[in-house]
Amino acid sequence: MTKIADLLAAGPTFSFEMGGPKTPEQQQRLERVLGDLEGLHPSYVSVTYGAAGSTRDGTIEVVRHLAAETSMTPMPHLTCVAHTRDEVVGLVKGYADLGLDNLLALGGDAPADGRVYPSDFAYAMELVELAREIGDFCIGVAAFPEGHPRSPDMASDRRRLAEKLRAADFGITQFFFDADDYFRMIDDLAALGVDKPVLPGLMAFVNVEGLRRMAGLNEAKIPDALQARLDEVAGDVDAVRALAVETCSGLAQRLLDAGAPGIHLCTLNYSCPARQIWANLGLA
Ligand code: FAD
Repeated sequence: MTKIADLLAAGPTFSFEMGGPKTPEQQQRLERVLGDLEGLHPSYVSVTYGAAGSTRDGTIEVVRHLAAETSMTPMPHLTCVAHTRDEVVGLVKGYADLGLDNLLALGGDAPADGRVYPSDFAYAMELVELAREIGDFCIGVAAFPEGHPRSPDMASDRRRLAEKLRAADFGITQFFFDADDYFRMIDDLAALGVDKPVLPGLMAFVNVEGLRRMAGLNEAKIPDALQARLDEVAGDVDAVRALAVETCSGLAQRLLDAGAPGIHLCTLNYSCPARQIWANLGLA
């Protein structure tokens, strides 16, 4: 198995994010998509974890599939809010038993179903510390170039992020569209004495409404020029995907040219746009 920190030490990484499936049908479809992407030799593939464990079994099954049946390195996402310590210990030990080397340790959000879940955790930092106690994992954490929506101000968000990155091995950002936001965050972290690699997370969006909803939830800005182009293509599936490929390819190239340590692409479980973006970056 492979630690992502070691890959990053050797050069830029190019990775995919897949959504953890909720049904056996989604699982089968996702395995087909992964089969389509395997030939691109991604540095690793991360698998999301639904709020409060809503994709727990699906996430574990995809990670197991990646580890046992493909040549790709898996990294499960794991959130701790709305979980008990015993639940999280069970999950992390399960990943250690599968022989996994990498984990993305996240806070998570309050579940949208309105139910109250017993929770022994408040912040991702607690999950980083717990995972360190349990196994020899390479641990990634989330970063928000434009600040996390629940932060009172940017300075305190940056201080929390710096503290979390000191305990972890690397970061991956929320999606964003303005490279300057990313580089401002890197400069702020450097000023706080932190130079751990933080991978830009880019969003290969597949529909306009979904992108605007996700951006609203995360308070991620969509620049005016992109908003205008989204208005033009809304409703035309092929045109939306072509715009996503153009947007992600251009942003990725700009970030890499200016020294970003790699690219992490949220695929939304579609292989075609990811393949085109990889081709545009000369990676296919
Ligand atoms: P934290 O690091 O806990 O931060 C949350 C907030 O608390 C921030 O405002 C931070 O500044 C503040 N904070 C941190 N520590 C303290 C402290 N000690 N005292 C006071 N304030 C503090 N969600 C999912 O449900 N499943 C996923 O698979 C998933 N994958 C993601 C992948 C990436 C790359 C990213 C960027 C996000 C992902 N998310 C996922 C969303 C994430 O769980 C939410 O955005 C969540 O609100 C924040 O997670 P975090 O790990 O940054 O939390």
